[in-house]
Amino acid sequence: MDSIVAACLAFAEKAVDAVPDAKEAQKLGSLPTQALCEAAAAVTRRYADRTFNFCGIVNAKSGRCSENCSWCAQSRRFETGIEIYPLIDAERAVQAAKQAEANGLTRFSLVTSGRKLSPREVRETISLVRAIRSSTNLEVCLSAGLLTESELKSLSEAGVVRYHCNLESSRGYFPQVCSSHTTDDKIKTLSSARVAGMEVCSGGIIGMGETEADRIALALELRTLKVGSIPLNILAPIPGTALGNEPLLGDEEILRAVALFRLINPTAQLRFAGGRARLSPKVQKKAMECGINAAIAGDMLTTKGSAVDADKRLVVEAGYRLDDLKKFDAQHLWHPYASAALPPPVSVAAGGHGARIVLSDGRELIDGTSSWWCAAFGYNRPEIVEAIRKQAAELTHVMFAGFTHKPAVELGKRLIKLLPSKLTRLFYADSGSVAVEIALKLAVQYQMVLGRKSRTNFVTIRQGYHGDTWNAMSVCDPAAGMHTLFHGAMQQRIFIDAPRSVFGGEWNPQDVDELKAVLEKEGESIAALILEPVVQGASAMRFYHPQFLVEARRLCDAHGVLLIADEIATGFGRTGKRFACDWAGICPDIMTLGKALTGGAVSLSVVCVTNDVADAVSCHAPNALMHGPTFMANPIACAAGAAAMDVYMAEDWLTKVREIEAQMKEGLAPLAKLEGVLDVRVLGAIAAVEVKRAADNRILGPAFVREGVWVRPFGRIFYLMPPFVISREELKRLINAFSRVLTDWVEEKI
Ligand code: PMP
Repeated sequence: MDSIVAACLAFAEKAVDAVPDAKEAQKLGSLPTQALCEAAAAVTRRYADRTFNFCGIVNAKSGRCSENCSWCAQSRRFETGIEIYPLIDAERAVQAAKQAEANGLTRFSLVTSGRKLSPREVRETISLVRAIRSSTNLEVCLSAGLLTESELKSLSEAGVVRYHCNLESSRGYFPQVCSSHTTDDKIKTLSSARVAGMEVCSGGIIGMGETEADRIALALELRTLKVGSIPLNILAPIPGTALGNEPLLGDEEILRAVALFRLINPTAQLRFAGGRARLSPKVQKKAMECGINAAIAGDMLTTKGSAVDADKRLVVEAGYRLDDLKKFDAQHLWHPYASAALPPPVSVAAGGHGARIVLSDGRELIDGTSSWWCAAFGYNRPEIVEAIRKQAAELTHVMFAGFTHKPAVELGKRLIKLLPSKLTRLFYADSGSVAVEIALKLAVQYQMVLGRKSRTNFVTIRQGYHGDTWNAMSVCDPAAGMHTLFHGAMQQRIFIDAPRSVFGGEWNPQDVDELKAVLEKEGESIAALILEPVVQGASAMRFYHPQFLVEARRLCDAHGVLLIADEIATGFGRTGKRFACDWAGICPDIMTLGKALTGGAVSLSVVCVTNDVADAVSCHAPNALMHGPTFMANPIACAAGAAAMDVYMAEDWLTKVREIEAQMKEGLAPLAKLEGVLDVRVLGAIAAVEVKRAADNRILGPAFVREGVWVRPFGRIFYLMPPFVISREELKRLINAFSRVLTDWVEEKI
């Protein structure tokens, strides 16, 4: 028995990464139920979401269906005595949605009868969706038949996040139970829904006279389609339908089906749908243990469902968590770059170690982002955690005006050792954006006190990113960046084209012509040039030639313009040098650092300034830099920073970064051959793949999580910036999962 269970586990393990071989999958059908269930339970615990997901449904249009699905009470070909009504109005839809919300559900689906909605009904459904969205916090799903891509697009824009269309049975058996449409019609709808920006939900009904081989074939088809939410219905024969006299499936056969679906779809949400109400609580619980981790709660379309509270008790007994954290989060907490009304899917993080983020259900994600590039030395790095703990016990905070303290000095000592020798003055701040604000302010004040009153503007290069606060925004790329909307509201900065010479390529001296021309013409209005040295991160992930920095340094000096190097993303080894400026051997007048400064543990940034600039500002009236955040030099943050700098200095990270670089170069190279990929580039521990199809993290986030990794693309850039502590094996898994999801995305398979 143990060896059978082990074989099933090995099968499922492979099914996480790739569609299983059909013959191999069919062999599962000959195995004993106990072994199947045991293996499926282990797979569920290891790979499936352990937070149970409930959704509610409402029959939004009932009966008079033209189709001949032999199980369905709503087909006009059968006399079943069900209530028949046209599309419900907004009042009724909102009432049903509010009831679902009051029952504690977070997802709600409108389900309509018929082959598909008419154009008028599509418009009405859009109104229903908007009405539900404006009066509840539910995520809205829709099941409305074989709609076209443009209809689906309009529904997606109205706020439908997931489209449902069951395949119902295997491709081979489906024609036996329905001849008015085909499996391919359904698949076309599902792929159109994906293209329209929705997640998809698709499953089937068991107990319609199909064999177990058919169930395996259906599970495989769904795995091939990478369906993330799979409803599993058990036929409840309805008198009057063609299957009205079908014998009921026995408990064992149902449990086998659940186990098979789970083994073939290890990471999907396997959703108990119609027909389960007749099962005993014991059997339902067993089904949850061996694979069911989602359910439709409350009533079904034409049959009674089960009580929500009883369901919740069972779910907890079966070892699942309920959605409480996510529910509150979706209703009240606004996430970065996100809609409050249509909250993005989130995972619940509960811990971290090394290159891994641990989810509240125990699953671990290999991190490809270093949490927006800050957790360079790994999550919960013990030395940093200990320093925070120790400092918190001594002094959590004291104002920095009139006081200093050991953590501020200890961090300062380490930074002075690491920084170019000319950068001798440090101004601590709370975040990267604030550091950029201070750098800009300092530059203007420097020019003012020297009597250069006209120098109030900044020049910067296109495709840059410097933060989300007002002035930082003004120097982000005005078109490609995230702040285009505010362009007219901000101070107008001077933008020059980003250098075209790429890192590692030939230097084209013309790349500096525009900067030269701007400084010659408008130098008297410019306080500073601000740029991200070598790597333009959050707006483009571009790597440019370091010679540009050499030329920029020379030109700035010639024109009395300060050079601000924003090393918030690149500092502390990310590019393969300590600072990205080191590629050019230059020293800026002002350098901003953040992110990895505390190993990503606590928010802290620092503005590093030359004596020249600091002295000019300090020795002219008002003899002070007029800036002082409340939490400046917070002792806990500084203690974390000092510990992080010790970690940075104690190890040979540059060798580690070079190894990561080599592995990413090799592992990601095949992606360049894909039709939908424009460029693959790697520098240090940064890899970027530029694709044609803009990313949608609503779809991609859950897809990466299902693969056991954490990746967060933006725009048309998929990138990897793993923590330096990532092992070779972890990086291999990360690269493979990244490549699979990216390939599916560019080929429009998800
Ligand atoms: N500058 C650069 C170069 C950055 O990459 C970022 C953050 N991505 C910032 C500034 C802003 O930092 P924060 O998000 O900490 O405000």
